[in-house]
Amino acid sequence: MAPLYLKSDMLARTRAYSPLSSRSVHTKPAPGGRTRSIPFVRLTNSIPRLFLCSAASLSHNDQAQTNNNNGDIGKDGTHSAGTLSVHGGELGGRPSVHDSLTTPIVQTATYTFENTQQLIDYQEGNYGSYEYGRYGNPTVKVLEDKIKALEMAEDCLVSSSGMNAACTMLLALVPKGGHIVTTTDCYRRTRQFIQTFLPKMDITATVIDPSDLGALEQALEEHDVSLFFSESPTNPYLRCVDIPKIKAMCGPKNAAVVIDSTFATPINQQAIPLGADLVIHSATKYLGGHQDVLAGSICGRSDLVAEVRRMHHILGGTIDPHAAYLVLRGMKTLDVRVERQNATAMEIAKRLQDHPKISWVHYPGLETHPDHEIAKAQMTGYGGVISFEVDGDLWRTAALIDAVRLPYIAPSLGGVETLIEQPTVVSYWDQGPEKRAEIGIKDNLIRFSCGVEPMEDIWADLAQALDTI
Ligand code: PLP
Repeated sequence: MAPLYLKSDMLARTRAYSPLSSRSVHTKPAPGGRTRSIPFVRLTNSIPRLFLCSAASLSHNDQAQTNNNNGDIGKDGTHSAGTLSVHGGELGGRPSVHDSLTTPIVQTATYTFENTQQLIDYQEGNYGSYEYGRYGNPTVKVLEDKIKALEMAEDCLVSSSGMNAACTMLLALVPKGGHIVTTTDCYRRTRQFIQTFLPKMDITATVIDPSDLGALEQALEEHDVSLFFSESPTNPYLRCVDIPKIKAMCGPKNAAVVIDSTFATPINQQAIPLGADLVIHSATKYLGGHQDVLAGSICGRSDLVAEVRRMHHILGGTIDPHAAYLVLRGMKTLDVRVERQNATAMEIAKRLQDHPKISWVHYPGLETHPDHEIAKAQMTGYGGVISFEVDGDLWRTAALIDAVRLPYIAPSLGGVETLIEQPTVVSYWDQGPEKRAEIGIKDNLIRFSCGVEPMEDIWADLAQALDTI
């Protein structure tokens, strides 16, 4: 029997409408002449079930509307990262529409209120809902809860890109005239923001080698440092910072420790239990995992995330709900993808290390890596990215890139497809040889992001390409 649809205006009026006639009319004039949208609720055999589609029922904290009883997952710290990638944030507390298994995409820019009293209740925290798309969205909230569970964070904010998360964090947490400490090897645009834009607010930076804790100590003594900010592992040389030691130095000085954990993922590294106050991800990479969406996240101490959120509400780097859904869907397989990418990268790094046409391999899983011991102590896997140097110049290196058939030549990393790029050409071409040398970007460097293709296929292709140069 075809389902009937119940027209719900949240005042619990219960008139049944036929599916076709009622579905085609979604609005009616509300008292006072305004147009009010009327959600539809599916009935089974004409018996009214939950009012699952109302604005109230889409509030994340309305436990009565959820569709299962496994709400404890991710809350008591007993579940593995693999289980949290699939279920974290999604069971117990998320909105449910028509008993859907997946989290619904709540594609709206604004939210409605029944009357002024309901709006006042909302403002005073007595009615759980949302107000306006820049301030929150139920689908985005589920993604925030998933990342929060995986990183063991107190709070999480998801925004439109990794760069947006980093820039919003810096603008929110560093005062005018403040000072930060950061590391030499990092994503180019982050460095650009720190060196080009922050000085406009008289914010200065000490840039240290990732392992130079003496330089960190000196900076902490000489400046009122607001925060330490580094990737770990870094882009592209995969340097790792000793998070517990850095926390031990920064903590007494009230300097927050912020780690961009994009290359690690929460599967390989949980920076918060290690001592980080905040963890940033370019969710565009491993979290999304399918090279089809841009997103960023920042999670950690709730007081700091609240500061960042306030700035985010002003700057407006809001993620679209559909983009948030794509990251949520990608994250279901995060654990299995990363496990495979770890294993593939480790094996390929070893084989490249033994290859006569490769002069150096940068991979934290190799004992030759300067931060291998740090990585071993604080990571459970070394990640899917390998950087390596071809025994040759810019053009011999380019010849290798042009000879591979399986990987795409593209920026980015962390997706299911293997990607290959020459940082000199992709990210630093406009900088010229002298500037590149100054920041340590070598012309013979290749960044290789292992996808989920079988390792032997990736290696066979790389080996045939190496034979051609
Ligand atoms: N952090 C790291 C380590 C990155 O590699 C990138 C981009 O490559 C970013 C942040 C910026 O992320 P997005 O491209 O999502 O803005």
